[in-house]
Amino acid sequence: MSDTVERHEFGAEVGRLLDLVVHALYSDREIFLRELVANAADAMDRRRFEALTDQASALPPDAKVRITPDKAARTLTLSDAGIGMTKAELAQNLGTIARSGTRAFSQSLGEAKAEDRPSLIGQFGVGFYSAFMVADRVTVTSRRAGSDEAWTWASDGQGAYTLEPATRAEPGTDIVLHLKEDAGEYLEGYRLDHVVRKWADHITVPIALVEDGK
Ligand code: ADP
Ligand code: MG
Repeated sequence: MSDTVERHEFGAEVGRLLDLVVHALYSDREIFLRELVANAADAMDRRRFEALTDQASALPPDAKVRITPDKAARTLTLSDAGIGMTKAELAQNLGTIARSGTRAFSQSLGEAKAEDRPSLIGQFGVGFYSAFMVADRVTVTSRRAGSDEAWTWASDGQGAYTLEPATRAEPGTDIVLHLKEDAGEYLEGYRLDHVVRKWADHITVPIALVEDGK
């Protein structure tokens, strides 16, 4: 590990929450894509909004959420030109539970009918962690609009994450999912297309499914 890499432990709550999301929702795990696309779309909306008051540079007119599978690397990457995150925001947003507690979430999960469970993760604002249903390692490289700095957050979802300096030409965020052995279906264009159509129909920003290797 280079000396610019910082290691941080997740709080105990995050560890329990990750376990809950990964195990309780396993049979609905395709919803990770809905959650990550929704986050990307939110980030693009926020940038558009902040640009109105010159707090952020304008969202490029052709901005899209890009979803790129790479079979050789076994990765699925989601990229957006949204508001991005500073180093502190990466730590705060992806490493702590700001709002709802694990107990309330866990209780709701226990009481919910199976078909109602997937909507709970959106309601409780824990969508990002659903990435660990399909990935055994997740890296998030982000540059906040208005800043020149980029940072990479990385975790295997097992109790800790790292932060290190990175580079990114433009503001926005790349989320790279290193897919689990049994999640290879999310490298297939037809499968991704199906999931995006099923769950992300209402998303108002354009979504581009990039062909493997392009
Ligand atoms: P929620 O979307 O309900 O807030 P999530 O777990 O899905 O909960 O995401 C946590 C937070 O991480 C978001 O509120 C946002 O601040 C940040 N975040 C996640 N993905 C992105 C992204 N692509 N760009 C910018 N910020 C993001
Ligand atoms: Mg979300």
